[in-house]
Order: sequence, then structure tokens, then C-alpha cells
Amino acid sequence: MGSSGNGGKASSSENLFINGIHKETPKDNSLKGQYNDLKNNYEQIFIEAAESIRKELDTIKPENACANCSNKNCNVEKKDIFAPYPASGCKLRDWQMQALTYLTGDYRQKLKAEYKAIMDKKSEYECNKCGACCKLAVSEYSYEQLKQRAMRGDKYSSDFVSVFVPIASEEAAKSVNPEYFELLNILVQDDKIYYYHCPKVDGNLCSIYEQRPDICKDFPHNPLKLLPKECSFNEWKNSVSHHAMLLKAKVDIINFYKQKLG
Ligand code: SF4
Ligand code: SF4
Repeated sequence: MGSSGNGGKASSSENLFINGIHKETPKDNSLKGQYNDLKNNYEQIFIEAAESIRKELDTIKPENACANCSNKNCNVEKKDIFAPYPASGCKLRDWQMQALTYLTGDYRQKLKAEYKAIMDKKSEYECNKCGACCKLAVSEYSYEQLKQRAMRGDKYSSDFVSVFVPIASEEAAKSVNPEYFELLNILVQDDKIYYYHCPKVDGNLCSIYEQRPDICKDFPHNPLKLLPKECSFNEWKNSVSHHAMLLKAKVDIINFYKQKLG
């Protein structure tokens, strides 16, 4: 189901953000390749993101902050961003607060703009109408839970239950797309997932194409989501995945800063 497309979709609306550097497109486009790329690269990308943020905060760190300090109770030795500076009268404590304001304000807005650019780039690619995302969709929620969420006003759940119905068994879901099924299960590990299909798919095509809901038009919704190997949006995903993972790492790191400094 892509922007021009046809198919279904998967779990709920996760949001990931990213930052700048555009690295080489992964060479392995298989499902296993996608999985290994996410799994193996994230740790290194997280380190890259942490270092980038640390360097950025160093640019606003006051020089010689302790030169004329009259605070007699300070015994901080390693004067980094997470040190336990005195709550008042300390320029480095002021720096911590300034850093927190920056990360949760302008910096986060910058990451959101980068994420939007990644999603906008999806429009350069077209759905090939393979129908794979219509025939096997997954959600972390059961059908009942989705209906309850829809009644509480969750648009994604409402759209989802308007087109998808549960697949009768895991065996039936596996038979639809065995490779995709196996890797989804590896990715979710011990978490429960539920399988769905859309009865509106006719062969590989959407029988209500002009009336298909937004979740169909907008698929895929997330550059880090595992896609069926048939999906033509894998090319988009592969071209942005490093950037997307970097954004996700930066968002996670900002949340860590909020916990430590807030
Ligand atoms: S309505 Fe069904 S068949 Fe049509 S695009 Fe959406 S999931 Fe696919
Ligand atoms: S899996 Fe991708 S290419 Fe196939 S119908 Fe869905 S969006 Fe289109």
C-alpha cells in the first residue's frame, strides 16, 4: 500500500527522528540483510550520535568557568556535562541547564525537520502494487484492543480495523509470506504480535483503491520498519536507514539527558 499503493501495514504509529550524515546505502536488500543492518549497526550509530551531541554541547560550555568562583563547597573533579555541580552560583550548572533547554528545544526541532525530510523523500518512490502489505499486516494489539483504541479516538487503530481482519492462525499467517513472518518473529522476540489481512485485496490489487484509508496511502510509515522484500519502498528505506537510526539514537540520548539533568 504505498503512496500510490495497494497494501496493508503493520504495527502502530511509532515515531523515530534522525540527524544528518548520509552514509552509504546498505548492499544487502534481503530481509535478512535489513535485519542484520539494524541489529549490527545500531550500537555504532548510537556511539556516533552520543559523540555528536557531546561535541555540540561543548561549543556552548563556558571557558574558564571556575576561574573566579567563590563556591567553597565544590569538589567536582571531572567537569563534564553530567557532573554534580552545585545548584547555585555555578556557571557549569548553568551550562547544564542551557544544554537541556537546547536539546529539548531547538535541537529536537532540528531532528524533527530531518525526519520530515526523510519521510518526504519517500515520494520519490512508487508502490509496485505487489499486495504484500495488504496480505500480511501485523500489530502489537489484538483486534479487540484495536477496536477499543479506535473507540477512544485513535485514528490509526480506527483506520486499521476499517480494513484489516485477523488471520485465523499463526500457521495461516506464516503461509502467506514465510520469510517475512520468520523475521518479524525474530525482531519482536518475546513480544506478542497479531496477524491481519485485508479482505479488500483482489489478486494483488486494491478493490477500493480510490477510497483506501490514509494508513494505506501513507505506507510505509516508518523508515526503520521491516518491509516485505517485494516492497518497492525498500529502496527508499535502504537509502535513509542510517540517517533514520542516527535520529532514533539522538532522540533516545536526549531522553537520557532529560533524566540525568532535569
Ligand atoms: S484497503 Fe486493503 S487492499 Fe486496499 S490498499 Fe488498503 S490494505 Fe490494501
Ligand atoms: S508491499 Fe510495498 S510495493 Fe507492495 S503493495 Fe505494499 S506498499 Fe506497495
